[in-house]
Amino acid sequence: MNIALIGNPNCGKSTLFNALTGKRVKTGNFAGVTVEKSRATLKDDDSVTVTDLPGIYSLSPESSDGKVVTEFLKKGDYDVIINVIDGGGLEKGLYLTAMLTSVKKPIVIAVNMYDEVQKSGKKINAEKLSALFNAPVVFISALKNYNLNRLVKTAKQVNYPPKNFGTKSIDEINAFLRANVELIETKKKVKHDLTEKIDGVLLNKFLGIPILILIMTAVYFITMKVGGILSQRITEAVKTTSEKVNSALLEKGLAAWFCSFLSDGVIRGLGSVLAFFPQVTILFFLMTVIEESGYSARIAFLLDKIFKSIGLGGKSVIPLVLSCGCTVNGVLATRIIENEKERRRTLFLLTFMPCSAKTAVICWLSSVLFNGNPFVPVLSYFFSFLIVAVLGKIMLKRDAGSDSEYPFEVPKYRIPPLKSFVSVLLERTKEFLLKAGSVVFAVSIILWCLKNFGFSGYGVGIENSFIYILGNAIKYVFYPLGFGSAEASVSVVFGLFARESVAESLLLLCDNVSEIFPTGFSALSFLSFFLFAPPCVSALSALRKESTKKDFVKIIAFGLITAYCVSLLINLSGLLIRSNTLIFCFISGIIFLGLAAITVVRTVRRKKWEIKVKHNTIL
Ligand code: GDP
Repeated sequence: MNIALIGNPNCGKSTLFNALTGKRVKTGNFAGVTVEKSRATLKDDDSVTVTDLPGIYSLSPESSDGKVVTEFLKKGDYDVIINVIDGGGLEKGLYLTAMLTSVKKPIVIAVNMYDEVQKSGKKINAEKLSALFNAPVVFISALKNYNLNRLVKTAKQVNYPPKNFGTKSIDEINAFLRANVELIETKKKVKHDLTEKIDGVLLNKFLGIPILILIMTAVYFITMKVGGILSQRITEAVKTTSEKVNSALLEKGLAAWFCSFLSDGVIRGLGSVLAFFPQVTILFFLMTVIEESGYSARIAFLLDKIFKSIGLGGKSVIPLVLSCGCTVNGVLATRIIENEKERRRTLFLLTFMPCSAKTAVICWLSSVLFNGNPFVPVLSYFFSFLIVAVLGKIMLKRDAGSDSEYPFEVPKYRIPPLKSFVSVLLERTKEFLLKAGSVVFAVSIILWCLKNFGFSGYGVGIENSFIYILGNAIKYVFYPLGFGSAEASVSVVFGLFARESVAESLLLLCDNVSEIFPTGFSALSFLSFFLFAPPCVSALSALRKESTKKDFVKIIAFGLITAYCVSLLINLSGLLIRSNTLIFCFISGIIFLGLAAITVVRTVRRKKWEIKVKHNTIL
């Protein structure tokens, strides 16, 4: 038996799918997270298959993720539909139910988020709702595992099609729902919804952006301070362990090269990645709070306002914001964009967003090179947006693709559930172990070999090793950027395979990392090269799947050229400042203030700023 899970975006389908099957597909308090279908059998009955599909609002979607659903429905490879509805937005959910009746398959209406419905004091009349569509209704909470056995049992038993609304026009369905939903649900009267009150502050036209900056500063501050302390302890422990292992093995009379391979190559190599673990985990943890609380959707809304004032914005903002977590998610989310030119433009731009791995490296570099100053990662975060806005504007001029208007739908604020944190921790650990066991391990071995071998064999001394020969050959490419040392050049190359390898190679090659950067600007230039260089291998493979071969090559070249140009600009600014500090500060201060004034005036003037998001609220 095959069950299909169908519903609006963000109504909890993937959470239900995970709870029923024991799988772990990505969920998130954000429309546009699920863009592909997933299939698995029930946890305790492998004769029943469940398919999770992307969220839709109607059966005539334009985007490629929506088409996945309509094609699936057309193929008919399922016996029953579980129509998941967010109990907080009954009318919107039931509009899709009315549409779904036209496919003439049995439907079970699963009113999800029942825990929140109960908390809000709202009452939903199951009998009336069931009679309206001639379909069984089950109240569930996918997150709290409430009533899921009953849902499955009902789905197995239901064998009659619902009342068919397929012959009715859209207006007739809307009028029908408006008249009936009031009879089905009784709401508690409240003057102001808490979500709307909070949004009055967080999305305020003057306070919205400063609050966003404050929140992100706090996120980086915590990541750097707490993560930095743990990370330093781990680095020290790894160093001592590696030295102890080396001397113990030497005492046992093992060959010197083997002892060095184990202690320096394997233990120190893998240990340097372990040093990242606290920072990445803390960052992911805080990002999960931001996403699950519903604030990510607000970030998209705020960015949309800014991007729109320069002609960008719309649906492309969602993949861009998701890329701040992981570029792969952002790449997949571009499927929600119907306009091909806009989708292509977004794919080019999202590689410049600061993903968590990049941010963790930036945090690490900031603690090593800038005494843990939290403003360095915060500035790089907003600097990425600036670069995306500038490049987006240039690309928009070139291809003049029309921008989609997107009615931002923001979820209700809520305290992030504990389950999400557990799953983030598990996900992080799994990803870390996988990465440590594959790319990073391979890079450690290669680095060790390059460091210990030269043209005349093993133990030629670091100056004659392959790594220096390689570093010295390519360092001239990075000379204009201010970090033309063999060590920095080699770490740039290895960092292109996996972000973490930057730290790994720097730690392996130099005792004091800050020594290889002659000035703060050369360190900043190095940092921004990583910010804008093409993403990691897994993001590249996702990009390859979602773009043509020609575009894929262009995206990589575009990334490298942008990274090079931005770093060059930073280094040149540094040289200028050092040669004539006062004049430079004065001129750049005037330019900055001018730009800030123009932005504020333009943004405030835009009448559209009023909070026009739809609140998907329960109260
Ligand atoms: P999808 O887009 O329909 O697949 O929705 P997701 O499964 O990604 O869930 C959207 C958000 O709703 C996530 O933050 C979930 O944690 C949350 N969620 C899902 N089911 C429930 C539920 O029963 N109760 C509550 N309170 N939250 C839920």
